[in-house]
Amino acid sequence: EAETMPVRNPATGAVIGQVPNSSRATAGRAIAAAKAAAAGWAARPVWERAKLCEAMADSVLAHRDAIARVMSEEQGKPLAQAVGEVSKASDGFRLSAELVRQMRGETIPAENPSKLVLTIRQPRGGYAVITPWNFPVNIPVEYLAPGLATGNTIVWVPAPTTSAVAVMLMRALEEAGLPPGALNLVTGEGPVVGDEIVNHPDTHGIGFTGSAATGRRIAERGAGKPLLLELGGNGPVVVYDDADVDLAAAAAASGAFGNAGQICAATGRVLVHARLHDRFVAKVVEHARAMVLGDPLHQGTTMGPLNNPKVAAKVAEHVEEAVAAGATLHVGGRRRPDLGSDLFFEPTVISGVTRNMKINREETFGPVVPVISFRDDAEALDLALDSEYGLSVGVFTRDTGRA
Ligand code: NAD
Repeated sequence: EAETMPVRNPATGAVIGQVPNSSRATAGRAIAAAKAAAAGWAARPVWERAKLCEAMADSVLAHRDAIARVMSEEQGKPLAQAVGEVSKASDGFRLSAELVRQMRGETIPAENPSKLVLTIRQPRGGYAVITPWNFPVNIPVEYLAPGLATGNTIVWVPAPTTSAVAVMLMRALEEAGLPPGALNLVTGEGPVVGDEIVNHPDTHGIGFTGSAATGRRIAERGAGKPLLLELGGNGPVVVYDDADVDLAAAAAASGAFGNAGQICAATGRVLVHARLHDRFVAKVVEHARAMVLGDPLHQGTTMGPLNNPKVAAKVAEHVEEAVAAGATLHVGGRRRPDLGSDLFFEPTVISGVTRNMKINREETFGPVVPVISFRDDAEALDLALDSEYGLSVGVFTRDTGRA
């Protein structure tokens, strides 16, 4: 591949490597390789594919620290969290090995005694897998492990800003003995190589995790193919007046500041009963102040930079818009270029958020706890449901009926 694209460290802005910026033709070659490998891979006995999944789990674990380091340098999450993610990815291969051995078909009693009705499970063929940058090893494995275990071949397009760690993972999987063509990694731009593999007639199913806007586009371009779409959201956390405030504040903070808020099921907005409001805000501000923002490779850092300029601009825009419209900024709210790059964004708490602010309506994907006060259960429910998203909700109350 002649063309390359730079791999950047978001904590410093430095270029730390190059990966292929592949063309549609290259993606097409990957699809052809998957097609050529499909029959042989599908014909392998389930137990053999399960054993290979175990070998891939071992290989990922053996390379855990090296993969995690590249993830931390390229994605921006603290090293300890990257190590945890790689361990989880290894477990994903082990789980697929267990589950695929237990998958079975059925025989179904037929009305007509001359008929034998049975179901058998077969691979579908070639899958397109397209993944985001926030969990750049574990999210891909959620597709790669079950997809390969069940005998499908895969062409995988990772997010451009986490392509180096994708290469590391791919090498570890190949080292475990994966046959050529079963899994094919194509780095490049989503609208180019991602689009090619979604739309291609030799792709028989699609697994995608990413934003709702891209998901919609993929559903159009892959129309008629089975789709598994894991998209974004702005999930409310609801804190009722009987809740344990300390517990709720700790959970909201970890949901908003973990991975610098770049989580699909992050604390998107917190609806707090008016009676608890001030205590809740004070507690969550304490948690924000306790975060250590800095170089993800330094021990003791609990929050690294945001991954890329686009997400940082959106976080800043949402916070600025809310404050300009009258919300109160309690802590944070600024970029911290003094820490190494302008992708560092302080852990932030704002209250007085209202319905029409972007921070309430759209997915912010950054380290912000936006607080909205409510007076009764009906208002809480109305605020929670007044959204076009529905990915996740957290509820804090001692009353399960109310929850
Ligand atoms: P994104 O939609 O911008 O990109 C996701 C992937 O799609 C990338 O690999 C990208 O290159 C590719 N892509 C972009 N345009 C494409 C096109 N036209 N055709 C094919 N592929 C294309 O999302 P992102 O910014 O990488 O990730 C963050 C988003 O992912 C957030 O919205 C987050 O909530 C969501 N997410 C969801 C889950 C979940 O399980 N529901 C988990 C993690 C992240």
